[in-house]
Amino acid sequence: MTTYDENLRRAETYLARFAKDGVKNRINGESVPAISGETFETISPVDLKPLASVAKSGAEDIDKAATAAKEAFVEWRAMGGPERKKLMHRIADAIVDRAEEIALIECMDTGQAFRFMSKAALRGAENFRFFGDLAPGARDGKTLYAANQINITSRKPIGPVGIITPWNTPFMLSTWKIAPALASGCTIVHKPAEFSPLSASLLVEIAEEAGLPKGVWNTVHGFGEDAGRALTEHPAIKAIGFVGEGKTGSMIMAQGAPTLKRVHFELGGKNPVIVFADSDLERAVDAAVFMIYSLNGERCTSSSRLLVEASIYEEFTEKVAARAANIKIGHPLDPETVIGPLIHPEHEKKVLSYFDVAREEGVTIATGGTKADGPGGGCYVKPTLFTNAKNSMRVAQEEIFGPVLTAIPFADEAEALAMANDIEYGLTAYLWTSDLTRSMRFSEQLEAGMIWINSENTRHLPAPFGGVKNSGIGRDGGDWSFDFYMETVNRAFATTAHKIPKLGG
Ligand code: NAD
Repeated sequence: MTTYDENLRRAETYLARFAKDGVKNRINGESVPAISGETFETISPVDLKPLASVAKSGAEDIDKAATAAKEAFVEWRAMGGPERKKLMHRIADAIVDRAEEIALIECMDTGQAFRFMSKAALRGAENFRFFGDLAPGARDGKTLYAANQINITSRKPIGPVGIITPWNTPFMLSTWKIAPALASGCTIVHKPAEFSPLSASLLVEIAEEAGLPKGVWNTVHGFGEDAGRALTEHPAIKAIGFVGEGKTGSMIMAQGAPTLKRVHFELGGKNPVIVFADSDLERAVDAAVFMIYSLNGERCTSSSRLLVEASIYEEFTEKVAARAANIKIGHPLDPETVIGPLIHPEHEKKVLSYFDVAREEGVTIATGGTKADGPGGGCYVKPTLFTNAKNSMRVAQEEIFGPVLTAIPFADEAEALAMANDIEYGLTAYLWTSDLTRSMRFSEQLEAGMIWINSENTRHLPAPFGGVKNSGIGRDGGDWSFDFYMETVNRAFATTAHKIPKLGG
């Protein structure tokens, strides 16, 4: 592991090119400014100083990118799966080669701690390898026999697709959405989040250097209401893979309706971690703490509602509070740092506003509850635990998206289940109990797309990823991703000279 000083020095070197050249769009293999010439500044949440000026694109840039993606689709869809697999492995190798650069840039652009971002870059490479390996079989289908007929199904890539991503772990998330689209034979227009544009521009550059043909992957920077909107409205774009907030998802659905866009949504969550008294409490504390205070709490799958059986509630929340108070807040490039600054002053303001809400709602702030001093004076917030809350309170119902955990006691299984499900979201749930029958019974009734039992969120890439209720539509992971990026076609062959109804003869 590199030292803090080395990280600072190297980050400065890597960032210099962005400061000098800005962040441009990548369209049809060329780096170009927005056609209007407009730019916006991206700042680092560490010290709020500008990192680069970024292309502020609009409908005409999206049109150019969508046209390039449409033209490139003809050759890309015709490429054989094994060849595509090879290319995707080359992209993965190139990501690994530049993992340090990616991680350092991501830390400075997002405020995420190096200890997590160094792994996120490698996980990005893994996404390319995993979906690359599936590329040769992506078009496979089924053979379905009937008395007079054989049906043969196969899949075809849907066409050029739009990928719209948020600012939390932007590099890893972009690869998670883009790799399956490429593996299935789709071409792409990617619109990264305006708060974190740097690693996205690096990613497309790495892919093209590894041999990806021009126009297959186009990256257009800008704001959601301009570039994002235009992407969802463009007639050449056949589907939108979106990760972000639910209210943005609603807008995208409406914007895409006139052109009948297929949509895939990975949205917000207010995920319960339910701890029964019979569980391994030390492991449950470790997992609860990890799932809310890692990645600055800016993760959709964070366990932000802690439901604890009343008999162990005091003991459990005391342990969590002690751990939270002991977490190192610091510069994202310091390898010891766990919590860095939140992404942007606007988001920091939102998170801090929930400390006032908590006071108004009368919950106890067991630890944290204020801004923190950190190097550079940026958007640092203390890891926070609210106790003695009720599930109906805003602090229990709304996604805060920061290092803020709301703990609520429950009397019995029925109450725990009712509270876990009494929420508009349904992304993940984490269940802690040593009673196997209870874990089966309880998890069967939990309203969540992904449930971990006696575990924190550990991903297995072939397993489905996605939420129910207002947390999403559709699944990613393994073959589920191909269902979204591909169309299934059925061909029915007559196998006998069966009787055809004769009309008019
Ligand atoms: P956001 O919805 O504000 O923005 C996401 C993206 O949508 C950005 O690129 C933005 O520019 C774009 N956008 C905004 N308005 C648009 C419009 N009208 N048309 C098209 N595009 C538009 O989300 P955010 O604040 O960047 O990210 C945080 C949210 O993402 C949280 O709610 C979090 O839970 C969610 N998230 C979900 C998952 C998941 O897998 N379920 C993963 C990560 C983040």
